[in-house]
Order: sequence, then C-alpha cells, then structure tokens
Amino acid sequence: MPIHLFDSLERTLKPLTPAHPDGVFRFYNCGPTVYAPAHIGNFRTFVVNDVLRRLLELEFGANKVKHVRNLTDVDDRTIGQTQKEKRPLAEITKKWTDKFHADCDALNCLRPHAEPTATGYIKEQVNMIEVLMEKGNAYRAADGSVYFKLESFPGYGALSRIKERELKITNIVADADHKDSVSDFALWKAYKPEEDGDVKWPGPRGASAGRPGWHIECSAMSKSLLGDTIDLHSGGVDLLFPHHENEIAQSECCNGTTFAHHWYHSEHLLVEGTTMSKSKGNYYTLTDLVEKGYSPMAVRYALLMGHPRKQLNFMLDSLRAAESALATLRTFRAAMADSTGLVNVYASVVAALHDDLNTPAALGALFTAINHSKPSDVNAALFDRAMFALGFDLTAPTAPKAEVPAAITALAATRWAAKQAKDFATADALRKELTAAGWSMLDSKTDYKLEPHKKA
Ligand code: AMP
Ligand code: ZN
Repeated sequence: MPIHLFDSLERTLKPLTPAHPDGVFRFYNCGPTVYAPAHIGNFRTFVVNDVLRRLLELEFGANKVKHVRNLTDVDDRTIGQTQKEKRPLAEITKKWTDKFHADCDALNCLRPHAEPTATGYIKEQVNMIEVLMEKGNAYRAADGSVYFKLESFPGYGALSRIKERELKITNIVADADHKDSVSDFALWKAYKPEEDGDVKWPGPRGASAGRPGWHIECSAMSKSLLGDTIDLHSGGVDLLFPHHENEIAQSECCNGTTFAHHWYHSEHLLVEGTTMSKSKGNYYTLTDLVEKGYSPMAVRYALLMGHPRKQLNFMLDSLRAAESALATLRTFRAAMADSTGLVNVYASVVAALHDDLNTPAALGALFTAINHSKPSDVNAALFDRAMFALGFDLTAPTAPKAEVPAAITALAATRWAAKQAKDFATADALRKELTAAGWSMLDSKTDYKLEPHKKA
C-alpha cells in the first residue's frame, strides 16, 4: 500500500505521490522560530515530520525526496527578543539555531536537504511582493507597508473553512494599521525605529524600507527551492490558520498555479490539558528532560506513542515506559546478531505508518512481532529498516547515569549497605532522606536503581 496521509484541505486520506515528471517528491515543512529554545511540543511536530521524511525515502528512494525546512529568523517574535535583550538579531538567532540543531541531532532527526533562513531570502520575498502588487493582489498602505488584498483571492478560506463573516471582510477605509480591510494581512512591514532597532531591508518597488511579514517567508523559500507546486506542505495544527491559508493566497496569486497538492497538520503536545507553549511557560525543553535523567531517544519514542493527528498529553511516566521499551529493543537486537530469519518486522511497522502515519499502531506491531518471535527467527536487516523508519538509533546513549548527583549516589550506597547488613531502621531512614531529595530507590534482589520522582 502506498503512503496514505490525511489531507487537511480535502479532509480525506490521500496517497502521496510525486507529481513532477522527474519523480522527485517535494516536501516543505515549516521550521522553528529561532528566538528561544524549541520545546518538546515543537519537537513532537519535527519528530513526526522526520518519520514522514524517512517513509518518503523508503518509498521513493533517498535521492527522490527533497525535504526543505526553513528557519524563521526574522519576525515579530525574533525582533521582540532583540529589543528585550538589546543584542543583534543575528546573534540571537544563531544561538537558538545551533541549539535547535543539537537537539534535532540528539533526537535522531535527519537534516532537511535545504534549511533556508528568512533573512537569506529577502530578495525573493521582495520579488514575490512586487508581482502581487503588479497583479493587483497587494497594495501599498499609507505608511509604506504592503498588504495582501484578501478579496482579490476568491479561494481564500478553503483550507481552514473559515466563514466569510468571521473574516469580517469590510470596506473599512484605513484602520489603525492603514489597511483597506481589517482582514488584509501584511506582506511587508514598514520600518518602525522604536520597535525594529537596526532590522530593515530596502522594500518592494514603491514601498518603504522594512521587513517581510512572516507568511511570505515560507511562500518565497518554498518557491525558490522546490518550485511553484509542491507535493506536501506540513506543520503543526496552529499553523493551518492563518499562516498556511495566507501562504496559499500569496503563492497561488503570484504563481498562477496550485501551491501544494497535500497539506498535513499534526496535533499539539499538551501539559495538563493545555497546549505546551513558550508564551504559557508550561514547557519542557530536551535539556530539561536530559537533566532529569532521560535519554533523547526515549523522548523521541514517547513523542511517537500517540497518534500524530490527536493531541497527546505529556507525562514523565511515558518517558519511563519509553526507556524500558528501548532497552527491550536493544537486548532483542543484540540477541538477533545477523539473523536471516523469516519474521519481517518491517512489513508490519511500515503498514501501520503508511496508514496515516499511525505511530502507536506501528509501535504496537513492533512489540507484537518481537513478543511472538525468538530473536533468531527475526530478519535482522528488515528489523534495522523498521528502526530506520521510526528513527530509533539503538546505539545512542541510554539514560545518562551521571545525572544522579554524587551526594545521592553516596546516600543510596550507604542505604544499600545497611539493608544488606539487615540494619533496616537505618535503611528506612536513608530511604526517607532520598525521597525528600526527590529520588526513588528501586531495589531488586541483587541490585538497585535510582530514579527521579515524577513531577509533571
Ligand atoms: P514555532 O517555533 O513556534 O514557529 O513552532 C515550530 C513548530 O512547532 C510549528 O510547526 C508549530 O505548529 C509546532 N508547535 C508549536 N507548539 C506545539 C505543541 N505544543 N505541540 C506540537 N507542536 C507544536
Ligand atoms: Zn511556514
């Protein structure tokens, strides 16, 4: 079965196929805004898209997929951060780009084939805006900004099914933002010295110096690197409106053709029922979790435990379950050696992934297969291919032991010695001390393990 994926525009499952005669599948995934660390909610989206990228490679061939993921390194949020920190934009965006790359590598996400930055594509954005102005889809406002004229694109709202009345298409002349209609959106924002510091570029013909609006960035980078029509465009569900709706309007009016054949939106990671977000402050970064003693590979596994098109509640318990599932996979793989057995784990895993990227079903199929087989019955090469599809690197470091503070290790050792000597009163008192310090000691007959307490 080919890869079937839900298309948010047509609201149905559709097979993925490259439309261009060269057979190269063109895939654009909206990337991070690099003004702060990406949290593991953001990484849910990037890990899900990484599985998609891997599936596309397995289906069409590694050299028949072009995956582009941008870096938003200029927009309201990045500029706001330069004002807050009083540091140059490039310094801030470089810092968070480097951190993003390090986290992606730790999570075993394949690098996209191209990773354009919005500031590296200003000329291309200006060109698109000029075409839109020439065609009558955009206009210069009194302050020198440029707006997209929403009424000029009758197809607007097809992706989000936003009702006309919600769009409030009115003919209000010049509101506070100098727009003709409140629903028009900015393609180019005129320079405001008090807000923008030294961030500005020469504008489109007839407009003021300033900077691009966020939406035009993706339209221009996608056009420059993948052409006018792409096979798949994806992002988190919050990007569906207005970001992707606006991208469609700009690209289709400028290029005169379909922008994307398929739209995919994955759902959010929640914390106690609300979306994990930087603005709410209710987030974990990968570093937070590594500091608590979890391995990045377990974070990847846990992010794939829920169906990507359903919201997923984040819990530290899932990380513990992921850690032990990975340990089982490692042991099983080691026992398999280079077995040429007949059990094909890949077939069952990939069948679930081809069915709308059903990652929990894929993990279920994986464990059903290994629970019912001896390692020597399983085909090692196909098992490794299943690990590639899911992006599990079984050679990656396990939960780092060094994260346990030396004082805790010492307390635990003393307690273990007391217990061995049958001095249970001391052992119990020391356990209480460990608990108060946030650590659980899990005893087996011959050994013990230290785990941080659940806090989420
Ligand atoms: P940003 O860096 O805010 O531009 O977001 C980068 C990506 O993360 C986008 O595709 C967002 O849709 C996605 N995203 C933001 N918050 C979450 C969340 N809580 N869970 C999953 N994805 C998210
Ligand atoms: Zn985008």
